[in-house]
Amino acid sequence: MTAQLIDGNALSRQLRTDVAARTAALKARGVTPGLAVILVGEDPASAVYVRNKVKACGETGIHSVFEKYDATLSEEALLARIQALNADPSIHGILVQMPLPRHINPQRVIETISTAKDVDGYSVQSAGDLMAGLPGFRPCTPYGCMKLIETTGIELKGKHAVVIGRSNTVGKPMALLLLQANATVTICHSGTTDIGAFTRQADVVVAAVGRRQVLTADMVKPGAVVIDVGMNRDEHGKLCGDVDFEGVKEVAGHITPVPGGVGPMTITMLMVNTLESAERR
Ligand code: NAP
Repeated sequence: MTAQLIDGNALSRQLRTDVAARTAALKARGVTPGLAVILVGEDPASAVYVRNKVKACGETGIHSVFEKYDATLSEEALLARIQALNADPSIHGILVQMPLPRHINPQRVIETISTAKDVDGYSVQSAGDLMAGLPGFRPCTPYGCMKLIETTGIELKGKHAVVIGRSNTVGKPMALLLLQANATVTICHSGTTDIGAFTRQADVVVAAVGRRQVLTADMVKPGAVVIDVGMNRDEHGKLCGDVDFEGVKEVAGHITPVPGGVGPMTITMLMVNTLESAERR
């Protein structure tokens, strides 16, 4: 292996220790950061994500309120619950786990969360703040990717970064964060004819597609930083990313593994956003 491994677990531990210390300092001043986590329905993957978020709150000293509702919960009732949490001074962040049952409009739910408590950073206001370079909550996964890139010590100014994927929650905010850090940014997606033509010129590649082997060794410039956001299953049911890790690690300069790369950082950045929301108050 020539690439240096970017250890998301280690960075995550380090950042959570910092969150715990800042949370304790805030508590000493009479403010306990609080996160409300809402789960609607029985999706097993969502149940795991939610459990891990609540657990991370416990580890960092953040107060958490977990509310689980039946899949039949009406949109009206969910919106009313969010409005109550918006008005609750003990809550500094509100997270509604996606996906929601089909009868609930996710965008309406996201837009009902107060901008001051939008710790997922999914609202149009938060997206606009990011676009305009204004302070605000950054979506946790791309925010975590930026922290992982920072650990390499590589200055993004003057570098070419390629993001594969353009979702509102990962790809687009990722591209904007890289742009804000003065990288020159290209976004590839399902309509891009030759992704390799772009990635072969890239100093940084972020793969956020949700398909295995989207990035193979022949598509990577020697020494590049490769961040793998994807979460897929291989033919043996084992968790894997979008990147052909075995091949790409022989070419890249730095690479994130799956698991142990971006995954732990997403929850960590949720803790950071919740703490900072409480600090701002
Ligand atoms: P998404 O909403 O499905 O978006 C996927 C993006 O990939 C879309 O922009 C799509 O393009 C593009 N795409 C699809 N097929 C492609 C192809 N063959 N070549 C190039 N681009 C292609 O997914 P997401 O929410 O962004 O998540 C992406 C992956 O990251 C998933 O595996 C997800 O599970 C994972 N994820 C991980 C974490 C974590 O904490 N580790 C957090 C969030 C997401 P179009 O726009 O043209 O359709």
